[in-house]
Amino acid sequence: MNIVAKFGGSSLASAEQFKKVADIIRADNDRRFVVPSAPGKRNDDDDKVTDLLYSAYEHAAAGLEYKPIMEKIKNRYKDIIKGLELDLSLDEEFDTIEDLFIKKAGKEYAASRGEYLNGIIMSRYMDFPFIDAAKVIFFNEDGTFDSEYTDRVLSKTLEGLEHAVIPGFYGADHSGNIRTFSRGGSDITGSIVSRAARADMYENWTDVSGFLVTDPRIIRQPEVIDTITYRELRELSYMGASVLHEEAVFPVALKKIPIQIRNTNKPEDVGTIINNSDEGAFKHIITGIAGKKDFSIITIRKVHMSNEVGLIRKALSVFEDYNVSIEHIPSGVDSFSVVVETKAVKPFVYELMGKLKKATSAGEVTLTSEISLIATVGLGMKNYKGLSGRLFSAIGKAGINIVVISQTSDEINIIVGVHNSDYEKTIRTIYYEFNPQ
Ligand code: ADP
Ligand code: ASP
Ligand code: MG
Repeated sequence: MNIVAKFGGSSLASAEQFKKVADIIRADNDRRFVVPSAPGKRNDDDDKVTDLLYSAYEHAAAGLEYKPIMEKIKNRYKDIIKGLELDLSLDEEFDTIEDLFIKKAGKEYAASRGEYLNGIIMSRYMDFPFIDAAKVIFFNEDGTFDSEYTDRVLSKTLEGLEHAVIPGFYGADHSGNIRTFSRGGSDITGSIVSRAARADMYENWTDVSGFLVTDPRIIRQPEVIDTITYRELRELSYMGASVLHEEAVFPVALKKIPIQIRNTNKPEDVGTIINNSDEGAFKHIITGIAGKKDFSIITIRKVHMSNEVGLIRKALSVFEDYNVSIEHIPSGVDSFSVVVETKAVKPFVYELMGKLKKATSAGEVTLTSEISLIATVGLGMKNYKGLSGRLFSAIGKAGINIVVISQTSDEINIIVGVHNSDYEKTIRTIYYEFNPQ
């Protein structure tokens, strides 16, 4: 067996957590490659080291006082090193970091140091070789991930190594500049390493006992999903189930390597297995519910629109001109809507609407904002007649107004849009409709 184990921020937030992680790694010699995140929060009021790094860098780059933030970061690592009784000093590393902050090495460089330093500590504590991700994970100049070149270099590097620590979240572009994935991106590194190592399993260790039917911050102790397909997971993580980064399924899915979500604080729990198999997918009517807040719906109304060829294309090209990506396009007979993230259009939304009206000669273009999208996901849904009726009627009975509905023909996902103020209530209503108390 060959296992890659990624540990999230809360799993490595303190020396005590590091010890739990080391016990997990030592419990199975097949856990060969370890991908650590930066230290996360030790409690609700604590800071994530990554957030501190972004903030310190912004202060330094603006010529403001950044040393107190840097001190906080240093102390986090000092506490861990002391608690683990390691003979290790990161002083020189911190001198380099401060020097490069002042030289404006970039916020991606800054953010990456959280994982880099935690990787050094982990490598020393486990006595595993350290592989700097900047040497094995590559980005193109436009910031996109260079998957094939990375796989070639990384698989060669890992060949013949019994164990190694590869920090998550970052890599470098072909000119050597440090680049990062988006937030939560250590999950992606874990998946990339699993692919390159031709692993049998990608273990993703976090602070919950698996992928839960819905967000535990909204429903107390939701059920754990025991198995889920890559497709369902992708829908849920894209729609906000933040336990696994939405891009993390791709590298492992290419090689059909299963992912297992496990709890560092409860290693005895079985967690969730994510793979390609439909087995288990039909045990439940729905697999999971996830959602995101703050969308805007721009509706274009034009009588006899459905007879007009090319109208949607004209509208979409306006969004393209503004470089706005589109989430959904629900449509009716005389109108269609374009759902986008509010933050993607906010600075120029009225200008964009004016251009839309002109480009489509629409009778009316309207805007509804403060919308949340909530996805109910499950491969089993298509075998269950009347499911959407049941879903909409439960939401209606709860007195919630559905603003928009979007469902693709593969029937794996039903998305409803509601006002932000109904977000939590809608998730609770759907959850209890299908998981009665
Ligand atoms: P890590 O630091 O280990 O990467 P994250 O904070 O990124 O952990 O992800 C774990 C958190 O995701 C959980 O603590 C939980 O609050 C949140 N979460 C949101 N939706 C879900 C879900 N459906 N299942 C499990 N956790 C979820
Ligand atoms: N430390 C990074 C973040 O906070 C990456 C990660 O945790 O996966 O976003
Ligand atoms: Mg995470």
